[in-house]
Amino acid sequence: MINQKFFTVGPNQLYPTVIEHIQTAIEQNICSVSHRGQVFKNLFAETKHNLQKLLNIPDDYHVFFVGSATEAMEIAIRDCVGQTSYHFVNGAFSEKLYLTAKDLNKKSEKIEVETGQDFAWNNLNIPATTEMFCFTHSETSAGTYLPLPEVYALQQKFPNKLFAIDIVSSVPVVNLDYKKFDLVFFSVQKGFGLPAGLGVMIVNDRCIEKAKILQANGFDIGGFHNLLSLVEKEQENQTPETPNVLNIFLLNKVLEDMNKIGIEKIRKKVFLQAEKIYDFFDSHPQYRPAVENKKLRSQTIIVIETGKETKNILTKLAADGLVVSSGYGKFKDSQIRIANFPAHDLDDFKKLFEGF
Ligand SMILES: *Cc1c(COP(=O)(O)O)cnc(C)c1O
Repeated sequence: MINQKFFTVGPNQLYPTVIEHIQTAIEQNICSVSHRGQVFKNLFAETKHNLQKLLNIPDDYHVFFVGSATEAMEIAIRDCVGQTSYHFVNGAFSEKLYLTAKDLNKKSEKIEVETGQDFAWNNLNIPATTEMFCFTHSETSAGTYLPLPEVYALQQKFPNKLFAIDIVSSVPVVNLDYKKFDLVFFSVQKGFGLPAGLGVMIVNDRCIEKAKILQANGFDIGGFHNLLSLVEKEQENQTPETPNVLNIFLLNKVLEDMNKIGIEKIRKKVFLQAEKIYDFFDSHPQYRPAVENKKLRSQTIIVIETGKETKNILTKLAADGLVVSSGYGKFKDSQIRIANFPAHDLDDFKKLFEGF
């Protein structure tokens, strides 16, 4: 095995127990069992239970397995929005959700701010036709977190509209109040430290009802993966298609591991690491965190302004087997992005700091 450590924003360093769980999966013939058989049904039910336990998801929410977060974006819009969704755009991933709505011919609208900036929460121009609000909790391109109290206040104000949120690069670190949302989604190759190729949707009955209404009104709610086919199969602890059984198995195992440690402890560790990383760069003579507003700083994706030295730093780190991400889009040559997930330890970051 090549000795490398990944601080990339996704895929990322595998969670330390994953290799051993892959071994177990092979021993238990997990890759060969039928997705219609009892072994898989038990796995589905257990994974759902362990996820609900770890993230404190209310019992009446559905859990669906899909191909990726990108697919979840499409299902969210297609199955919950007839005409208008309203998007909070502060970077490339929130923009992607907005563009997904446009691709699906919705008359969606957005409020947009520069990366690293907050929205004018008291001065939003929300169309009365809005059916669903769309948020990205951790904007992976910019290194910002959305201020959740502002989102909760908005939900209080618009209890009849749907609220959807992408938590891809903050799960399981974000302590989300799931009751404030109707649809939440993530993929597993970031904070859970698993191989890519599995998306998870957490959805309440209001979304299912909305999909039924849209379908009854002649809207295209999609093919094999739509909220109605997913919920129908979920009732039998199954998926419409042959899913990524190996990855569901690994997710279940990592959820078990994390439940054993306790989510509070995991979050505390990640927050402490984030504090050390921000402290290091706040007091660095040459480099600084890209997000100035401390209230908006992501705890899991930390973006550093490295200017003209970016390439040199990346080369130096790579020589030591340390892999980070470059900046997103136009910041490719002037920023470095560092992931801080449960798979990482403080000692990993101490080694990383030596490269700066
Ligand atoms: C990585 C990422 C995605 C896309 O995830 P896929 O698994 O590649 O579909 C979506 N949203 C955010 C915030 C991300 O960081």
